[in-house]
Amino acid sequence: MGQSKDNTLILMDEFLTYNYGIQPEIIKLATVATQDIKDYIWDISSISAYNQLKVLAAMKESGLSDFHLNDSTGYGYSDVGRETIEDIYKLVFKAEDAIVRPQIISGTHAITLCLFGILRPGDELLSVTGAPYDTLFDVISGTNCGSLKDFNINYSQVDLLVDGKPDYETISDRIRSNPPQMVLIQRSRGYSLRPSLNLDEIEELIGFIKNLNRNIVCFVDNCYGEFAETKEPIEVGADLCAGSLIKNLGGGIVPGGGYVVGRESLVAQCFSRLTVPGLEKNCGPSLQTNRLIVQGLFYAPLIVGEALKGGIFTSRMLELAGFDVFPRYSEKRSDIVTAAIIGDKNLLISFCEGLQAAGPVDARVAPVPWAMPGYDNEIIMAAGCFIQGASIELSADAPLRPPYAIYIQGGLNLTHVKVGIMSALQRLLNQGYELKNRP
Ligand SMILES: *Cc1c(COP(=O)(O)O)cnc(C)c1O
Repeated sequence: MGQSKDNTLILMDEFLTYNYGIQPEIIKLATVATQDIKDYIWDISSISAYNQLKVLAAMKESGLSDFHLNDSTGYGYSDVGRETIEDIYKLVFKAEDAIVRPQIISGTHAITLCLFGILRPGDELLSVTGAPYDTLFDVISGTNCGSLKDFNINYSQVDLLVDGKPDYETISDRIRSNPPQMVLIQRSRGYSLRPSLNLDEIEELIGFIKNLNRNIVCFVDNCYGEFAETKEPIEVGADLCAGSLIKNLGGGIVPGGGYVVGRESLVAQCFSRLTVPGLEKNCGPSLQTNRLIVQGLFYAPLIVGEALKGGIFTSRMLELAGFDVFPRYSEKRSDIVTAAIIGDKNLLISFCEGLQAAGPVDARVAPVPWAMPGYDNEIIMAAGCFIQGASIELSADAPLRPPYAIYIQGGLNLTHVKVGIMSALQRLLNQGYELKNRP
C-alpha cells in the first residue's frame, strides 16, 4: 500500500454541515482523530478477520445447511436449525454445551438463569470484580421479588483495586474464610469507570480461584465482550458464561434473545431454570429466529470490529476535545464500551441529543432522562436503533449522577459513529463548551 490518507470526511464537509449542522471546527478535529487512530484500526481488522474465520469454520463443521434456516412452532421438538445453532455456539466458544434462545429476553435474563440455575438456598455468590451491572442489583438483593436474597442465597463482593485490577489478596482471604459456590466475573466495564478485564486477566483470575478451590463455579458476564478479542471466557477456564443477542453476537440483525455456554451439567441446570425443572434441551420453538440468529453470528465479527473502530475514534475525538476518556484510543480493548466524563448534567443531555440526531431511526426525537426499570438512577439513552434497545447499534447511555459520565457503545459502521460523535460534540459547542485542542 502506498501513502493512505482518509479524505472521506473532507469530501463530506458540505453534507455534514447541511444535514447535521456540524461546523468546520469539528470536522477538522475528526480529520485529526482519523489520522491518529490509523494503526489501531488495523489491529482491530485482524481481530475481526480471526473471529470471522472462527465463525466460518464452525458453520462448516456443524454442517449448517439451507433447511436449518427454517423455524419451529409450539413445543419446538425436532428443531434441527436450533440444534445446529447451538452446535455452532459450542464450537465458537469451545464449550461443552450451549443454549441460544429467543425466549431469553435480555442479557440480564441470561445472567439470571446462570445465577438461579446453579445456586441453591444457603449458597454464597461472590463477585470478584466489584459491583455487578446495575440491572443485577434486584436480581441479587431485591426484597420480595424472588431475588437470590429472598431464596436465602448470600452475596458479597470484592471491589477492584484503584488501578482496576482484581484484589487478589482480599479474594483469597474471602474464599478461604467463606468459600462461595459461585464466583461472578464481569468482563465489561458496564456503567462504571473501571476498565474492562481482558482475557489474559480473566485467565489469571480464574486460575487463581481454581487453585484455591477447584469446585467453585466461575461464571463470566460476557455482555459487550464477545469478539473484542480472539479468545472467549470458556477457553481460559470459565465454567459458564452468558450474554445478549442484541449486543455483540447478534451482528445488529437478531431481533432478541440470549445465550448461555459452558459445562454440560451446568448448562442443563440453566435450561431447567429457563423452562421446566428436568426438561431436556430438545424443545423450545425457534419461532422466526433461526436464520437471523445464525446470520447475525456470521456478521458479528465484522460488526463488533466496526464498533471497536468507532470506539477508538470516539476515545481520540473526545480526548482531543478535552475530556477524560476510558479507555484511551491507544489502549487494548476487551469490550465495545467507551466512557467519557462530561462533568455536567446539561452538557450530558446535549451530547445525547446530538448523538440521537445522527441516528438512522428517530433522528428527530429528543431523548429525555427517565426512571428506567431495573436502574436506581434516572437514565438518559440516545439510540436511533432498528432493534429496540440494541446496544450493538450506536448508542449512548448515562445514569444522571456525578461525575456525569457518558457510556457510548456499538455502531454498525464506523462512518455512522463518526457522524454521531461529531454531531454530539457540535451540540456541546452550541451550548458554549470550548474545545481544548482547537484544530
Ligand atoms: C448490558 C449488560 C448487561 C445486561 O444486559 P441487558 O441485555 O441490558 O439486560 C449485563 N452486564 C453487562 C456488563 C452489560 O453490559
